[in-house]
Amino acid sequence: MMTGHHSKTDSSLHPFPIKKLDDLIRPFIVPPGHKISLAKDHDPAYKAHYLKKSEAESELQEGIEALAKYQDMLYAQNTYALLIIFQAMDAAGKDSTIKHVMSGINPQGCQVHSFKVPAGEELDHDYLWRCSKALPERGQIGIFNRSFYEEVLVTRVHPDILEQRQLPPGLINKHIWAHRFEEINNFEKYLTSNGTIILKFFLNVSKEEQKKRFLERIDLPEKNWKFSVNDAKERMLWHDYMVAYEEMFNHTSTEWAPWYVIPADHKWFTRLVVADIIYSRLKELNLSYPKVSEAKHEELLQAKVILEIPK
Ligand code: ATP
Ligand code: MG
Repeated sequence: MMTGHHSKTDSSLHPFPIKKLDDLIRPFIVPPGHKISLAKDHDPAYKAHYLKKSEAESELQEGIEALAKYQDMLYAQNTYALLIIFQAMDAAGKDSTIKHVMSGINPQGCQVHSFKVPAGEELDHDYLWRCSKALPERGQIGIFNRSFYEEVLVTRVHPDILEQRQLPPGLINKHIWAHRFEEINNFEKYLTSNGTIILKFFLNVSKEEQKKRFLERIDLPEKNWKFSVNDAKERMLWHDYMVAYEEMFNHTSTEWAPWYVIPADHKWFTRLVVADIIYSRLKELNLSYPKVSEAKHEELLQAKVILEIPK
Protein backbone atom coordinates (compact mmCIF):
# COMPACT_ATOMS: atom_id res chain seq x y z
CA MET A 1 0.00 0.00 0.00
CA MET A 2 2.90 2.35 0.58
CA THR A 3 3.33 3.47 -2.98
CA GLY A 4 4.67 6.98 -2.93
CA HIS A 5 3.40 9.99 -1.14
CA HIS A 6 -0.03 11.53 -1.66
CA SER A 7 -0.78 15.01 -0.53
CA LYS A 8 -3.72 15.21 1.85
CA THR A 9 -4.99 18.16 -0.16
CA ASP A 10 -4.75 16.43 -3.51
CA SER A 11 -8.01 17.58 -5.05
CA SER A 12 -7.48 15.99 -8.45
CA LEU A 13 -9.40 12.98 -7.23
CA HIS A 14 -13.00 13.31 -6.13
CA PRO A 15 -12.53 16.77 -4.67
CA PHE A 16 -14.61 17.23 -1.59
CA PRO A 17 -16.64 20.40 -1.97
CA ILE A 18 -15.93 21.89 1.43
CA LYS A 19 -17.03 25.30 0.19
CA LYS A 20 -20.50 23.99 -0.45
CA LEU A 21 -21.02 22.58 3.05
CA ASP A 22 -23.85 24.23 4.90
CA ASP A 23 -23.38 26.29 8.02
CA LEU A 24 -24.47 23.58 10.43
CA ILE A 25 -21.83 21.17 9.15
CA ARG A 26 -18.80 23.37 8.40
CA PRO A 27 -17.53 23.83 11.99
CA PHE A 28 -17.12 20.09 12.46
CA ILE A 29 -14.91 19.15 9.54
CA VAL A 30 -11.20 18.71 10.14
CA PRO A 31 -9.80 20.70 7.21
CA PRO A 32 -7.43 18.49 5.21
CA GLY A 33 -3.87 19.70 5.48
CA HIS A 34 -4.52 21.72 8.64
CA LYS A 35 -3.74 20.91 12.23
CA ILE A 36 -6.48 21.12 14.83
CA SER A 37 -6.48 21.10 18.60
CA LEU A 38 -9.34 19.12 20.08
CA ALA A 39 -9.38 21.16 23.28
CA LYS A 40 -9.24 24.56 21.57
CA ASP A 41 -11.25 24.02 18.42
CA HIS A 42 -13.99 21.60 19.45
CA ASP A 43 -16.43 22.07 22.32
CA PRO A 44 -18.16 18.76 23.20
CA ALA A 45 -21.16 20.67 24.57
CA TYR A 46 -21.71 22.82 21.46
CA LYS A 47 -25.29 22.85 20.17
CA ALA A 48 -25.32 25.69 17.61
CA HIS A 49 -28.38 27.93 17.93
CA TYR A 50 -30.54 25.21 19.46
CA LEU A 51 -31.61 25.73 23.04
CA LYS A 52 -33.13 22.36 23.72
CA LYS A 53 -33.84 18.92 22.35
CA SER A 54 -37.43 19.56 21.31
CA GLU A 55 -36.30 22.27 18.86
CA ALA A 56 -34.20 19.80 16.92
CA GLU A 57 -36.66 16.92 16.87
CA SER A 58 -38.66 17.77 13.76
CA GLU A 59 -35.46 18.56 11.84
CA LEU A 60 -33.98 15.22 12.83
CA GLN A 61 -37.14 13.48 11.67
CA GLU A 62 -36.96 15.28 8.32
CA GLY A 63 -33.29 14.36 8.00
CA ILE A 64 -34.03 10.70 8.68
CA GLU A 65 -36.80 10.65 6.07
CA ALA A 66 -34.59 12.34 3.48
CA LEU A 67 -31.84 9.80 4.20
CA ALA A 68 -34.24 6.95 3.55
CA LYS A 69 -35.15 8.46 0.19
CA TYR A 70 -31.52 8.74 -0.85
CA GLN A 71 -30.73 5.26 0.39
CA ASP A 72 -33.43 3.89 -1.89
CA MET A 73 -31.78 5.59 -4.87
CA LEU A 74 -28.29 4.52 -3.81
CA TYR A 75 -29.54 0.94 -3.73
CA ALA A 76 -31.36 1.16 -7.07
CA GLN A 77 -28.47 2.87 -8.84
CA ASN A 78 -25.95 0.31 -7.56
CA THR A 79 -22.93 2.49 -8.39
CA TYR A 80 -21.70 3.92 -5.11
CA ALA A 81 -21.17 2.36 -1.70
CA LEU A 82 -21.25 4.51 1.41
CA LEU A 83 -18.88 3.67 4.26
CA ILE A 84 -19.52 5.44 7.56
CA ILE A 85 -16.88 5.08 10.26
CA PHE A 86 -17.57 5.86 13.93
CA GLN A 87 -14.79 6.31 16.46
CA ALA A 88 -15.12 7.59 20.02
CA MET A 89 -14.24 7.17 23.64
CA ASP A 90 -16.54 4.84 25.60
CA ALA A 91 -20.08 6.03 26.24
CA ALA A 92 -19.88 8.79 23.64
CA GLY A 93 -23.04 7.45 22.03
CA LYS A 94 -21.90 5.51 18.95
CA ASP A 95 -24.54 2.82 19.36
CA SER A 96 -27.45 5.13 19.96
CA THR A 97 -26.42 7.49 17.15
CA ILE A 98 -26.30 4.57 14.72
CA LYS A 99 -29.66 3.34 15.98
CA HIS A 100 -31.41 6.69 15.63
CA VAL A 101 -29.87 8.02 12.45
CA MET A 102 -30.44 4.77 10.60
CA SER A 103 -33.92 4.19 11.97
CA GLY A 104 -35.68 5.04 8.71
CA ILE A 105 -33.35 3.02 6.51
CA ASN A 106 -34.24 -0.17 4.66
CA PRO A 107 -32.30 -2.92 6.51
CA GLN A 108 -31.61 -4.70 3.19
CA GLY A 109 -29.34 -1.88 2.13
CA CYS A 110 -27.35 -1.40 5.30
CA GLN A 111 -24.98 -3.41 7.50
CA VAL A 112 -23.35 -2.48 10.79
CA HIS A 113 -20.03 -4.05 11.82
CA SER A 114 -18.63 -3.66 15.33
CA PHE A 115 -14.90 -4.22 15.63
CA LYS A 116 -13.79 -5.57 18.99
CA VAL A 117 -10.37 -6.67 20.20
CA PRO A 118 -9.01 -8.73 17.28
CA ALA A 119 -8.58 -12.47 17.78
CA GLY A 120 -7.79 -15.71 15.94
CA GLU A 121 -7.38 -15.41 12.20
CA GLU A 122 -7.80 -11.63 12.39
CA LEU A 123 -4.43 -11.47 14.10
CA ASP A 124 -2.87 -13.64 11.41
CA HIS A 125 -3.58 -10.97 8.80
CA ASP A 126 -2.62 -7.36 8.22
CA TYR A 127 -4.56 -4.79 10.23
CA LEU A 128 -6.81 -3.67 7.38
CA TRP A 129 -7.92 -7.19 6.51
CA ARG A 130 -10.94 -7.70 8.76
CA CYS A 131 -12.32 -4.26 7.85
CA SER A 132 -11.61 -4.83 4.19
CA LYS A 133 -13.72 -8.00 4.32
CA ALA A 134 -16.61 -6.05 5.79
CA LEU A 135 -16.68 -3.20 3.25
CA PRO A 136 -20.09 -2.32 1.79
CA GLU A 137 -20.99 -3.43 -1.73
CA ARG A 138 -22.17 -0.96 -4.34
CA GLY A 139 -25.63 0.24 -3.47
CA GLN A 140 -25.10 -0.43 0.23
CA ILE A 141 -24.41 1.62 3.33
CA GLY A 142 -21.80 0.03 5.60
CA ILE A 143 -21.33 1.28 9.13
CA PHE A 144 -18.15 0.58 11.07
CA ASN A 145 -18.60 0.84 14.83
CA ARG A 146 -14.85 1.27 15.49
CA SER A 147 -12.48 0.35 12.68
CA PHE A 148 -8.87 0.02 11.54
CA TYR A 149 -8.37 3.42 13.19
CA GLU A 150 -8.10 1.51 16.48
CA GLU A 151 -4.68 0.52 15.15
CA VAL A 152 -3.43 4.10 15.58
CA LEU A 153 -5.41 4.70 18.79
CA VAL A 154 -5.65 1.87 21.32
CA THR A 155 -2.43 0.29 19.99
CA ARG A 156 -0.66 3.63 20.31
CA VAL A 157 -1.88 4.22 23.84
CA HIS A 158 -0.93 0.63 24.83
CA PRO A 159 2.44 -0.14 23.22
CA ASP A 160 2.32 -3.71 24.58
CA ILE A 161 -0.52 -4.53 22.17
CA LEU A 162 1.79 -3.84 19.26
CA GLU A 163 4.61 -5.86 20.82
CA GLN A 164 2.34 -8.93 20.92
CA ARG A 165 1.27 -8.71 17.29
CA GLN A 166 3.99 -10.91 15.76
CA LEU A 167 5.02 -8.20 13.32
CA PRO A 168 8.22 -8.67 11.29
CA PRO A 169 11.38 -7.48 13.04
CA GLY A 170 12.23 -3.84 12.52
CA LEU A 171 8.67 -2.77 11.76
CA ILE A 172 8.04 -1.36 15.19
CA ASN A 173 10.08 1.82 15.19
CA LYS A 174 9.41 5.54 15.55
CA HIS A 175 8.03 5.76 12.01
CA ILE A 176 5.27 3.21 12.48
CA TRP A 177 2.46 5.72 13.04
CA ALA A 178 3.46 7.87 10.07
CA HIS A 179 3.53 4.71 7.96
CA ARG A 180 0.13 3.64 9.17
CA PHE A 181 -1.39 7.05 8.45
CA GLU A 182 -0.01 6.88 4.94
CA GLU A 183 -1.25 3.32 4.45
CA ILE A 184 -4.72 4.29 5.64
CA ASN A 185 -4.84 7.37 3.42
CA ASN A 186 -3.80 5.29 0.42
CA PHE A 187 -6.34 2.59 1.24
CA GLU A 188 -9.14 5.13 1.54
CA LYS A 189 -8.07 6.88 -1.65
CA TYR A 190 -8.16 3.57 -3.48
CA LEU A 191 -11.66 2.82 -2.17
CA THR A 192 -12.90 6.30 -3.04
CA SER A 193 -11.64 6.13 -6.60
CA ASN A 194 -13.49 2.85 -6.99
CA GLY A 195 -16.87 4.18 -5.92
CA THR A 196 -16.91 4.03 -2.12
CA ILE A 197 -17.83 7.28 -0.41
CA ILE A 198 -16.24 7.53 3.04
CA LEU A 199 -17.46 9.56 6.01
CA LYS A 200 -15.62 9.46 9.33
CA PHE A 201 -17.19 10.63 12.56
CA PHE A 202 -15.53 11.15 15.91
CA LEU A 203 -18.13 11.58 18.63
CA ASN A 204 -16.48 14.09 20.92
CA VAL A 205 -17.75 13.54 24.45
CA SER A 206 -16.23 15.43 27.41
CA LYS A 207 -14.53 13.63 30.26
CA GLU A 208 -17.17 14.94 32.70
CA GLU A 209 -20.08 13.78 30.58
CA GLN A 210 -18.45 10.36 30.21
CA LYS A 211 -18.25 10.10 33.99
CA LYS A 212 -21.96 10.94 34.26
CA ARG A 213 -22.85 8.27 31.71
CA PHE A 214 -20.61 5.66 33.38
CA LEU A 215 -22.23 6.33 36.76
CA GLU A 216 -25.63 5.89 35.14
CA ARG A 217 -24.47 2.57 33.69
CA ILE A 218 -23.46 1.47 37.18
CA ASP A 219 -26.57 2.79 38.95
CA LEU A 220 -29.29 1.64 36.56
CA PRO A 221 -29.71 -2.15 36.48
CA GLU A 222 -30.86 -2.09 32.82
CA LYS A 223 -27.60 -0.36 31.88
CA ASN A 224 -25.22 -2.49 33.96
CA TRP A 225 -24.39 -4.74 31.00
CA LYS A 226 -22.92 -1.77 29.14
CA PHE A 227 -20.21 -1.15 31.72
CA SER A 228 -16.94 -2.96 32.25
CA VAL A 229 -14.24 -2.18 34.79
CA ASN A 230 -11.85 -1.82 31.89
CA ASP A 231 -13.84 1.24 30.76
CA ALA A 232 -12.87 2.99 34.00
CA LYS A 233 -9.22 1.99 33.45
CA GLU A 234 -9.16 3.38 29.91
CA ARG A 235 -10.65 6.61 31.20
CA MET A 236 -7.49 7.13 33.25
CA LEU A 237 -5.61 7.30 29.95
CA TRP A 238 -7.90 10.05 28.61
CA HIS A 239 -5.08 12.48 27.85
CA ASP A 240 -3.07 9.88 25.92
CA TYR A 241 -6.15 9.03 23.87
CA MET A 242 -6.77 12.69 23.04
CA VAL A 243 -3.19 13.06 21.84
CA ALA A 244 -3.55 9.94 19.68
CA TYR A 245 -6.88 11.17 18.27
CA GLU A 246 -5.44 14.59 17.42
CA GLU A 247 -2.51 13.00 15.61
CA MET A 248 -4.93 10.79 13.72
CA PHE A 249 -7.15 13.71 12.63
CA ASN A 250 -4.19 15.78 11.59
CA HIS A 251 -2.81 13.04 9.37
CA THR A 252 -5.88 11.26 8.02
CA SER A 253 -8.46 13.95 7.30
CA THR A 254 -8.21 14.07 3.53
CA GLU A 255 -10.11 15.60 0.64
CA TRP A 256 -11.36 12.15 -0.25
CA ALA A 257 -12.19 10.98 3.29
CA PRO A 258 -12.51 13.86 5.76
CA TRP A 259 -12.93 13.53 9.51
CA TYR A 260 -15.80 15.20 11.31
CA VAL A 261 -15.53 15.95 15.03
CA ILE A 262 -19.10 15.89 16.33
CA PRO A 263 -20.04 17.44 19.69
CA ALA A 264 -21.37 14.55 21.77
CA ASP A 265 -22.39 15.88 25.17
CA HIS A 266 -25.95 16.40 23.88
CA LYS A 267 -27.03 13.20 22.19
CA TRP A 268 -29.85 14.82 20.25
CA PHE A 269 -27.41 17.32 18.71
CA THR A 270 -24.99 14.54 17.75
CA ARG A 271 -27.77 12.72 15.92
CA LEU A 272 -28.93 15.82 14.12
CA VAL A 273 -25.46 16.70 12.84
CA VAL A 274 -24.57 13.16 11.82
CA ALA A 275 -27.85 12.76 9.92
CA ASP A 276 -27.28 16.09 8.23
CA ILE A 277 -23.76 15.25 7.10
CA ILE A 278 -24.78 11.87 5.68
CA TYR A 279 -27.75 13.46 3.95
CA SER A 280 -25.63 16.27 2.48
CA ARG A 281 -23.01 13.87 1.17
CA LEU A 282 -25.61 11.65 -0.51
CA LYS A 283 -27.27 14.70 -2.00
CA GLU A 284 -24.01 15.76 -3.64
CA LEU A 285 -23.88 12.46 -5.53
CA ASN A 286 -26.86 13.51 -7.67
CA LEU A 287 -28.33 10.06 -7.34
CA SER A 288 -31.17 9.01 -9.59
CA TYR A 289 -33.17 5.90 -10.33
CA PRO A 290 -31.79 3.91 -13.27
CA LYS A 291 -33.49 4.80 -16.56
CA VAL A 292 -34.84 1.78 -18.39
CA SER A 293 -33.98 1.19 -22.06
CA GLU A 294 -36.46 1.76 -24.91
CA ALA A 295 -36.86 -2.01 -25.27
CA LYS A 296 -37.52 -2.47 -21.55
CA HIS A 297 -40.02 0.38 -21.61
CA GLU A 298 -41.79 -1.31 -24.49
CA GLU A 299 -41.93 -4.55 -22.47
CA LEU A 300 -43.45 -2.71 -19.52
CA LEU A 301 -46.18 -1.28 -21.73
CA GLN A 302 -46.92 -4.74 -23.13
CA ALA A 303 -47.14 -6.14 -19.61
CA LYS A 304 -49.60 -3.42 -18.73
CA VAL A 305 -51.78 -4.35 -21.67
CA ILE A 306 -51.77 -7.99 -20.54
CA LEU A 307 -52.64 -7.02 -16.97
CA GLU A 308 -55.55 -4.96 -18.13
CA ILE A 309 -57.19 -7.72 -20.20
CA PRO A 310 -60.56 -8.33 -18.56
CA LYS A 311 -61.01 -11.85 -17.14
P1 ATP B 1 -19.47 0.63 24.20
O1 ATP B 1 -19.35 2.09 23.90
O2 ATP B 1 -20.87 0.18 24.38
O3 ATP B 1 -18.56 0.21 25.33
P2 ATP B 1 -17.51 -0.48 22.42
O4 ATP B 1 -17.37 -0.15 20.97
O5 ATP B 1 -16.52 0.16 23.35
O6 ATP B 1 -18.97 -0.14 22.89
P3 ATP B 1 -16.60 -2.90 23.57
O7 ATP B 1 -16.95 -4.31 23.33
O8 ATP B 1 -16.72 -2.32 24.91
O9 ATP B 1 -17.41 -2.04 22.51
O10 ATP B 1 -15.10 -2.61 23.14
C1 ATP B 1 -14.45 -2.95 22.04
C2 ATP B 1 -12.98 -2.83 22.40
O11 ATP B 1 -12.20 -3.38 21.37
C3 ATP B 1 -12.53 -1.38 22.58
O12 ATP B 1 -11.92 -1.22 23.82
C4 ATP B 1 -11.50 -1.19 21.47
O13 ATP B 1 -10.45 -0.34 21.81
C5 ATP B 1 -11.04 -2.60 21.23
N1 ATP B 1 -10.53 -2.77 19.87
C6 ATP B 1 -11.17 -2.60 18.70
N2 ATP B 1 -10.32 -2.77 17.66
C7 ATP B 1 -9.11 -3.07 18.20
C8 ATP B 1 -7.84 -3.35 17.64
N3 ATP B 1 -7.66 -3.36 16.32
N4 ATP B 1 -6.83 -3.60 18.49
C9 ATP B 1 -7.02 -3.59 19.82
N5 ATP B 1 -8.19 -3.35 20.41
C10 ATP B 1 -9.23 -3.08 19.62
MG1 MG C 1 -16.53 -0.23 25.47
